[in-house]
This record gives sequence, structure tokens and C-alpha cells, in this order.
Amino acid sequence: MKAAIVGGGLMGVTLAYHLARAGHAVNIYERSPNIGGLATYLDYHGVRVDRFYHTILSSDMTMQTLIRETGVEDRLRFTETKQGFYDSGNLYPFNTPKDFMTFPPLNLFQRFRLALQVIYAQFERDAAKMDTIPVEQWLSRVSGRGVVEKVWRPLLRAKFDAEAVDVPATYIWSRLRRMMSTRQGVTSKEMMCYLIGGYFTLIEALAKHCADMGVALSTNTPVERVNIENGRAVGVRVGGEDIAADIVIATVPSPYIAELIPGGPQDYRDLLAKQQYLGVMCPLMILNKPLTPYYVLNITDPRIPFTAVVETTNLIAPEHVGGHHLIYLPKYLSPNSEIATWPDERVREEWMRYFKQMFPDFDESSVVEFLVQRARYVEPLRPMGTTNEIPQIQSPIPGMFVANTVMLYPDLSNGEAVTSLVKRVIAVVLGQGGPSA
Ligand SMILES: Cc1cc2nc3c(=O)[nH]c(=O)nc-3n(C[C@H](O)[C@H](O)[C@H](O)COP(=O)(O)OP(=O)(O)OC[C@H]3O[C@@H](n4cnc5c(N)ncnc54)[C@H](O)[C@@H]3O)c2cc1C
Repeated sequence: MKAAIVGGGLMGVTLAYHLARAGHAVNIYERSPNIGGLATYLDYHGVRVDRFYHTILSSDMTMQTLIRETGVEDRLRFTETKQGFYDSGNLYPFNTPKDFMTFPPLNLFQRFRLALQVIYAQFERDAAKMDTIPVEQWLSRVSGRGVVEKVWRPLLRAKFDAEAVDVPATYIWSRLRRMMSTRQGVTSKEMMCYLIGGYFTLIEALAKHCADMGVALSTNTPVERVNIENGRAVGVRVGGEDIAADIVIATVPSPYIAELIPGGPQDYRDLLAKQQYLGVMCPLMILNKPLTPYYVLNITDPRIPFTAVVETTNLIAPEHVGGHHLIYLPKYLSPNSEIATWPDERVREEWMRYFKQMFPDFDESSVVEFLVQRARYVEPLRPMGTTNEIPQIQSPIPGMFVANTVMLYPDLSNGEAVTSLVKRVIAVVLGQGGPSA
């Protein structure tokens, strides 16, 4: 079978790897000069750094299996990490039960209810039930109004870039479960992993195995459309040339797929076009000295434009990134965000203004670089009551399959969810049964 894969991000490359291992001929088409998509790297004076911060959790077993299979296990490192909270001008540690029980922004009763919420999420297993409960309602029930107002609502507002958030409980439930899976129990320490050379180390290793198995990888090659004849996908058009394939697998964001199939069923194109995503504005500040002890510092103050300070060199040993200290300052953006249109200089100005308020003693001469990174399609949004609108792996066009981050739900977009989805896609594509979405 000859397969054409649209998109050379983690999804596309992992799909190609598994299909080639199953003995199929594969072409990957990637429109950018390099593969990797959101998980690609920046070359900073000869040092590879993740364009966006990427951690692998100690519980991400599909990722770790791939890392082993592709021979880069010797570049995997485990580190104990810490989280913090910024509230009303103060930084608080937020790691151990003691931190929880002494967290100053909450009273004793509220602290207890917050801890209960985290524990409760681990025992709840019914994703379908979580999908029917609005997120604030679920949080209020266990955490209470005070904790919702002080902690959860600001975090939700930050994460979704909106005052009122119309998403199901699944979002926070899924995140709490993922974060707690890095611990052996509520009392143990948080362990995370990274690959020396960043996420791209794995993507590059996958691509090398693909090349050894005869996969053709074309970068700088946007797919212009999926060719459909007599209602069936028969290949792709690239550079004005039609290339035949027995199957086409699209891994790109859903609105792009709608544009790639002008000849496809209109109701299907509409379904793809209406899938919504949050974007991200994520400056990377390179410092010549450390800033905090935290991997993530969560921010609840709505005046601060970025929503976290992610100091990845509290996970990654600085010697693996040229001795630099890497601080990512992300803000997730709603689809119509005005901030998305800001030029880099304005982003720097606004971000630094608030950054200096947060860290009044900050020595600006320690900033070596401020690199504004942005992406439009990052985290799929799934409003209440729309799970039946998630596209299926097998599209209504015979011969065409879809595998993108919209289909990760209820998981959030991350490498573990992507590489796990790939396994389901392979089962469907090769007709080995399994769920179709
Ligand atoms: C700020 C941020 C932080 C993150 N943190 C983590 C983390 O800590 N841990 C973790 O596991 N994950 C993290 N992620 C998520 C992770 O990056 C994604 O889950 C993963 O990279 C998605 O891969 P993908 O291949 O599905 O999509 P993408 O990476 O979006 O790949 C799609 C590819 O398709 C290409 N393309 C688009 N249109 C066309 C076309 N017409 N023809 C050909 N090619 C096309 C694009 O150029 C792109 O390369 C983070 C993401 C962001 C943005």
C-alpha cells in the first residue's frame, strides 16, 4: 500500500514510522523547511532548544517506548521538578502536602478542599460523565466557591483566554490526572523527563528510521489539495503535480483539511472548518542566570498578560543548552485574540513591563535574548455538548483518514496522547478494528 501523509509534525512522522514498519510505502509532505511542527527546535548559536517548552512525563509510557525503540534512550534524563504559584505579588511553592496546607491565599478549610479536589480527580474514571458537567460546576462542588474564585477561575481564565469558560469538567479532570501521574502518590515528588537536544531528538530519530525503511520525506512541500476521484481519495497535489497514493492521512489542523478537500462532501468540510483551537504567544527569554527554582510558576493575576513562567532549565541541565537559562512566558490565545496581531516589539514591551512588576529585583542585563514564538493552531477547544462533533479517523471519503490533535479529546494535546492516537489510527487504517475515533 502507498500512503501519503500530510504534515511532518510528531503525528505525521510517528505514523510514517509505524506504517513503514508494517511494510507499506510512505511519503510524508511537510510545508515548512523542517519537520517537527510545534515540537521542532530553534538553532540558537549552534545549540538546539525547544521552540516551545516540552516535557515528557515519567508516566508517558508510549513516548518512552518510542524513545527506546528508536535508540535515543541514552539521551533521556529524569529530573525532580517543582511548581510554584504567583499571587498578589508573592511566590509560593506548590508541591508537597505541606505546601498545600500552608498555601497563604486560601484559609485552612479551603486548602483542605483544594487537596480533596486533586485526590478526587484521581478516583473519578468516567470520562463520559465528566463531559456532561460544566467545569466550574464540577470544581465548585468539591473545591467550594472560595477556591474557585481564588484559584480555579483565574487559572481557567488564563488557560482559555476568556472570562466565562464553556467547557466540560473533562479539561481540568484530565489535566489533574496527567499531572498527578508523574507522582507515585500524593506525597511523593514530581518527576519529569527531557531528551538532550529537545523533543526533536525523538522526531529526528523517527525520521532516520523512516529513511532507512525507504520513507520519502519532502520538506518545503505544502500539500495543495487531496485529489478525489469518483468520491475516493486517490493522492495529493504538491507543487502543481498530482501524486497517486492508495491512502491519504491528514495530520494538519482541521480547518486546513477542510481547505484541502474542495471536492469533498460539504457537510464534512463544514464540520472540519468549525473545529476551534486556541493559539499561543510564547516568548522565549534566554538569561545568563537562573530566575526561580520552579519548572512552572502559575499566575493567577489577570493583569499579567502571560499565564505562567516556565523555566525549563529547572528540568533540563543548562549544560545541555549551552549553559543558558531558558524562560518561556506563554499566553494561550482565543481564536479572535487581538494580542495575536501584535508585532514582536509590542509583545516584548508589554511582557517585560509586567515581568518587572513580578520580579522587582530583576536584573535586565541578564537577558541575552527575547525571542517571540507564536502558533495559531495549538490546543483544540471542545465546548460543552460537542463531543459528537469530533471528526472520525476514517473520513467519509474512502481512502482518506484524519489523525490530528482534535481527536485526542479528552486528553490534552501532548506527545503521549499523539503517539497513543497513532496506534489507534494504524489499527483503523490497516483494518485491524479498534475504535474509529
Ligand atoms: C507552548 C506549547 C507547549 C507544549 N508543551 C508540551 C509538553 O510539555 N509536552 C508535550 O508532550 N507536548 C507539549 N505540547 C504539545 C505538542 O507540541 C503537540 O501535541 C504535538 O507537537 C502535536 O503534533 P502534531 O504533529 O499533531 O501537530 P503539529 O506539530 O501542528 O504538526 C502539523 C504539521 O503539519 C504541517 N502542515 C500544515 N499544513 C500543511 C500542508 N498543507 N502540507 C504539508 N504540511 C502541512 C505543519 O507545518 C506542521 O509541521 C506543547 C505545545 C505548545 C505549543
